[in-house]
Amino acid sequence: MDNSSRKRNALLKKLNQYSEFVRGSINSVCATCNRAGCICKKKSSKMAYRLTYKDSRQKTRIVYVPRSKLLKMRKMIANYVKVRKILEQLVELNIVEFKQDQS
Ligand SMILES: [Zn+2]
Repeated sequence: MDNSSRKRNALLKKLNQYSEFVRGSINSVCATCNRAGCICKKKSSKMAYRLTYKDSRQKTRIVYVPRSKLLKMRKMIANYVKVRKILEQLVELNIVEFKQDQS
């Protein structure tokens, strides 16, 4: 196996490691009125969490995130950052290979 195939395999392995990923950001809202700026008469400190992201049609989507799954969701968002970095590295690698392959 040549050097760049080895590098590619290592990157793909890494990609697999972070395959549980989502794009978006977590917002917190009031658990009672569901608003970021609470409008309840009696303010409660209970918060609900949601993931906001854009789907393939650029439509904004909201997914409720139970508190018990908040850490997992944060991890999945962090994985997306990693996946993007790995993809960039793969692009670089493929460009180098393309340039070298002038046969
Ligand atoms: Zn409220």
